[in-house]
Amino acid sequence: MRVAIAGAGLAGLSCAKYLTDAGHTPIVLESRDVLGGLVAAWKDSDGDWYETGLHAFFGAYPNMLQLLKELGIEDRLQWKEHTLIFNQPDKPGTLSRFDVPDIPSPFNVIASILRNKDMLTWEQKIRFAVGLLPAVVRGQKYVEDMDKYSFLEWLKRQGVDERVTSDVFIAACKALTFINPDEVSATILLTALNRFLQERYGSKIAFLDGSPTERLCSPIVDYITERGGEVRLNAPLKEILLNADGTVKGYLIRGLNGAEDEVLTADVYVSAMSVDPLKVMLPKPWKLMEFFKKLEGLEGVPVINLHLWFDRKLTEIDHLLFSRSPLLSVYADMSNTCREYANPNRSMLELVLAPAKDWIAKSDEEIVAATLAELEKLFPDHFGGDNPATLLKSHVVKTPRSVYKATPGREQYRPAQVTPIANFYLAGSYTMQRYLGSMEGAVLSGKLTAQAISEALPVANSSNLQTLTRPPATNAATA
Ligand SMILES: Cc1cc2nc3c(=O)[nH]c(=O)nc-3n(C[C@H](O)[C@H](O)[C@H](O)COP(=O)(O)OP(=O)(O)OC[C@H]3O[C@@H](n4cnc5c(N)ncnc54)[C@H](O)[C@@H]3O)c2cc1C
Repeated sequence: MRVAIAGAGLAGLSCAKYLTDAGHTPIVLESRDVLGGLVAAWKDSDGDWYETGLHAFFGAYPNMLQLLKELGIEDRLQWKEHTLIFNQPDKPGTLSRFDVPDIPSPFNVIASILRNKDMLTWEQKIRFAVGLLPAVVRGQKYVEDMDKYSFLEWLKRQGVDERVTSDVFIAACKALTFINPDEVSATILLTALNRFLQERYGSKIAFLDGSPTERLCSPIVDYITERGGEVRLNAPLKEILLNADGTVKGYLIRGLNGAEDEVLTADVYVSAMSVDPLKVMLPKPWKLMEFFKKLEGLEGVPVINLHLWFDRKLTEIDHLLFSRSPLLSVYADMSNTCREYANPNRSMLELVLAPAKDWIAKSDEEIVAATLAELEKLFPDHFGGDNPATLLKSHVVKTPRSVYKATPGREQYRPAQVTPIANFYLAGSYTMQRYLGSMEGAVLSGKLTAQAISEALPVANSSNLQTLTRPPATNAATA
């Protein structure tokens, strides 16, 4: 069966991969000239890569790890020491570590918290552990119910000290969602904490050994095309064309550089676009339907990714770092962490600037200057003195609308992959799956979409879609 998929981010590619496995023929249409959506990367004229985002993979990403295994490329993940490393703003240039010992969960994470002496007092640790108990004991239902509170509100209700927020959770919220604890839904942090507490290697971090476009997305495309599928770049979906009964008749693809528009027809259609372009693209009759109206409750959050190349080595640390800076979120010296970007003599810092709403409209020069000022606190030895490190070049990648903004109350707006339209499905990390707006969430959503299509229309008897009936779509997490 032919399945047309709009969007070659991880959700669209994962959906196509699993459809191929089920014997279907996916045709993926990507509007841009690059694969990967939010993991897209480009090579500059010097041959250096720069990326949409600094991407960390976690041990608690079962679907991503499974996908890499199925593609035979799991060795491309470079696993780092099992630890979380934070900068200490009040002691510039120093770091505080949560080293996770190799013992069963949740004792490994608990031991890492108890052993950290810099960031939390004993009283704070005990209060936080007691506050977290309901999430551990009462499970996922409790975690989902907490979507009505911001994480800051939740911490206060649990009687947890404000200092825990400023010391640990501002950094964690910014890293996971690009917003601060007073804005982010408690469900997000509790979900991540639960995963880390339940899985022995859940909080272990890996970096890809090169650019995500080349090292992750290209092998998925090869897999799809070797099995008869297709992935077309520069093929923007312009309009979803409807039959009289409201089902999809075809995808109208915008012709670029003076070419004619083209209609692509298929048996089934998938949107793997992010939620913002999908909302714009919805056909008028669908906009009146409750299922699609709810998408109005979701929108992408702005974020900025910076790359700074220096004339010297600033650090030997081969890991993700939580900056705990008001301007920045996480960062890494990619000349240490990523094999393809390795350089023994010069650092390339990749840094995430978040929250970015006040910065997204500023010039690259302003953004780089403000970031360099922050680096004086992170690397005082290299920036404060007489012989400061020299910035050789920089790239700034702005994403005005990235993953859905995970503020309180958003969970109810996240749609199921199955829609009320018989031949139309959704994939994307914003759709309902339990891994939130992440690479794991994108891969899982694509897999769920492929499963739903295969269940509705097994290849052996790919019957006429017009006869398909479907129960009303639910909003319940399906995995
Ligand atoms: C700065 C940053 C850092 C991040 N860090 C991490 C991290 O450390 N760990 C982690 O797990 N996740 C991280 N993420 C999140 C992760 O990248 C996303 O959740 C995931 O990649 C989203 O995939 P997706 O396929 O759902 O959506 P997208 O990647 O947004 O894909 C949608 C695709 O649809 C295409 N499209 C749009 N309109 C059209 C059209 N009209 N026609 C055809 N195609 C169209 C887009 O070009 C895009 O390729 C980060 C994201 C950013 C921006």
